Amino acid sequence: TGASYLAGLIGAGIGPSLSPALHEREADRHGVRLLYRTIDIDALGFAPEAVGELVRAAGALGFDGLNITHPCKQLVIEHLDELTPEAAELGAVNTVVFRDGRAIGHNTDVTGFARSFALGLPEAPTRRVVQLGAGGAGAAVAHALLTIGVDRLAVIDTDRGRAEQLTKALCGRFGPGRAVIPAAGAADEVARADGLVHATPTGMAAHPGLPLPAELLRADLWVAEVVYRPLETELLRQARLRGCRTLDGGGMAAFQAADAFRLFTGLEPHTELMLADLARA
Ligand code: NAD
Repeated sequence: TGASYLAGLIGAGIGPSLSPALHEREADRHGVRLLYRTIDIDALGFAPEAVGELVRAAGALGFDGLNITHPCKQLVIEHLDELTPEAAELGAVNTVVFRDGRAIGHNTDVTGFARSFALGLPEAPTRRVVQLGAGGAGAAVAHALLTIGVDRLAVIDTDRGRAEQLTKALCGRFGPGRAVIPAAGAADEVARADGLVHATPTGMAAHPGLPLPAELLRADLWVAEVVYRPLETELLRQARLRGCRTLDGGGMAAFQAADAFRLFTGLEPHTELMLADLARA
């Protein structure tokens, strides 16, 4: 077709990102050219606040779109012309699309997790869910869970202030009581939950181990992981040993890229092949 696209990722420490390979391979499958550049603010010596300048420059230089990651997902908002409802409610943008001279902010972490959950844990009960971690990924995942219809989300974070901030914001968006900080602690909460969502860095090479005692995992609890490097964390390994239904973090990572690819190019991504590429990386 001769179509060509230019995209990129703005964030700190993004050298090892899988996004360039995911997007460029998917473009190859469509027979179009797509170049995906990492714009690492650390390597370039920019402060996070420079994200506005960088987004404006990318628009002027003909980029079709950008992904935005830590620590710029909130900072970028004031520099955009328009936001999707999810991005506006969440207050975080991971994808910017340039269209007719306007910069539009989306959040495909939310849509990516929702899609991964629907495909990977179909019919999972969602009355009571416990989520560990109230940081950047946790905020997107919690928003997706309450959108999907989780009745009561209990949020636990070693930094209590973060859990308080997130539950307050979620109750403001979804209604009182939909998100809580459990009074009785993790053990009691997990014992009564349908599912557990893990959104802390525990289980990555730099943060080995388990985020909660393995004895709390029981066969009728589903376990969803956000960490995707490695795909099988110690938490997932322990959960599978005990017979739990599990969802790894690869789906969220692949589907946020697939949703961004669709926004950048207008082409329908091969989401399952992007997931396979991610699993192989
Ligand atoms: P973050 O630093 O913003 O948040 C992590 C939160 O976890 C912090 O609030 C911290 O206090 C809390 N925490 C740490 N250890 C804890 C424990 N044992 N119990 C309870 N809370 C604990 O980090 P983030 O950006 O949210 O990333 C978290 C993980 O999610 C990382 O491993 C990241 O790679 C992964 N991630 C995956 C995807 C995906 O698409 N699958 C997307 C974004 C992030």
